This record gives sequence, structure tokens and C-alpha cells, in this order.
Amino acid sequence: MYYTCMRCRYTFKTESEPDRCPDCGYNEVRTSTEKEKEEYESFRKEFNQVPIEDRSV
Ligand SMILES: [Zn+2]
Repeated sequence: MYYTCMRCRYTFKTESEPDRCPDCGYNEVRTSTEKEKEEYESFRKEFNQVPIEDRSV
């Protein structure tokens, strides 16, 4: 599932439902719209970023 932070609009992908934004820590996130999902995927492709859940390894 894709989620978007209500405060900073950070969009991220996770298997389990998150209780807070991994970027700013705000505790209200909602499921992302189709447009936000597309933006997330295009951003990932453009910059070849490591998913945020893998950064702490
Ligand atoms: Zn946030």
C-alpha cells in the first residue's frame, strides 16, 4: 500500500499500515491517490532511490 503524510505530503510504500510518517514523524497518514502513487514511482525511477524502509540496514 501507498501512504501519504497529511503534513509534509511525503509519499511512501509499506506492507503494514503505518501509524506515523517516516519522514517527519507526524501521526496522521492517509492512503495515497493514484496521482501520488504515480509521482512516487516516477520519482523513484528518476533518482533510483533506496526505499526508506531499507535505509537503516
Ligand atoms: Zn510527514
